[in-house]
Order: sequence, then structure tokens, then C-alpha cells
Amino acid sequence: MSALRELYQQVILDHNKSPRNYHPLVDPTRTVDGYNPLCGDHYKIYVKMDGDRIDDVSFTGTGCAISKASASVMSAMVKGKTREEVERIFNDFHALVTGSIDADKNLDRLGKLAAFSGVSEFPARVKCASLAWHTLHAALQGTGASVSTE
Ligand code: ZN
Repeated sequence: MSALRELYQQVILDHNKSPRNYHPLVDPTRTVDGYNPLCGDHYKIYVKMDGDRIDDVSFTGTGCAISKASASVMSAMVKGKTREEVERIFNDFHALVTGSIDADKNLDRLGKLAAFSGVSEFPARVKCASLAWHTLHAALQGTGASVSTE
């Protein structure tokens, strides 16, 4: 395993063990449930908007290490961002986990997202890694109260 891969692994283990923003939000603008029946991942994402900006975001729920670490990294990255900025990060993440951009060559742009680059080699885990992002996306679009990967 390369040093970079080991670092990525550490980020995922750390966020799984000590997830950031892992609590319900008081007075959220929106909450959306996200399910990945294939793996059993189930999270609720809470978003508090201030106009077009995410004032606060948090999550609760359970699932595998990849899904929980991804929700944790996501919550830390999108807090304070506008819808447009979140959309850009979401697109980067999607490109990363589906293997259409090379993480090692885009580290500055990807930041902690790069930790999930290995997921592209495991198609079954792509849904685990993407679940929180799709759920957040639905919360920002206001398109419904729940999301399922199936
Ligand atoms: Zn999973």
C-alpha cells in the first residue's frame, strides 16, 4: 500500500470512529432520509439554510465505515458553502468515486474528498460513499423527504 493510500485509509477510519457533526440539528430548514438497501446504510441529513448558504449541517444514523466517513467528511466540507459551491464539490465527488478524475493529480482541488478515491475500484461501495451526498443534494433541491440508492 502506498503512503498516500495509507493516508486515505486513516482519514476514513478517523471519520468513521469520530464522525463530525453527528447529531440532530435543532430547528433545521430541511431533513432528508437516505437509504442504501444494498448495504443497509441509513442516515438522516439535517440542513439549516441562511438564504443560499448552508448555515449548518449535521447527520444521524448508521451504516458501514465508508458511508459514515463520507457523511462526516461531507458535513465538514459543505458547512458555510453556497448551493453552487456544494454542487461543484458534489460533481467532483461523483467524478472521483466513478473513476473519471485522478485523485492524485487533483489533490489541491479535492482536499479530504481524495480519501475516497479507492472507492472507484469497488463498484458496490460507490453507493455507500455517495449516499450522504445524494441525500444532501435532495435536501438542497427540496425534492422529497427521502432518497434511496435503489
Ligand atoms: Zn455501506
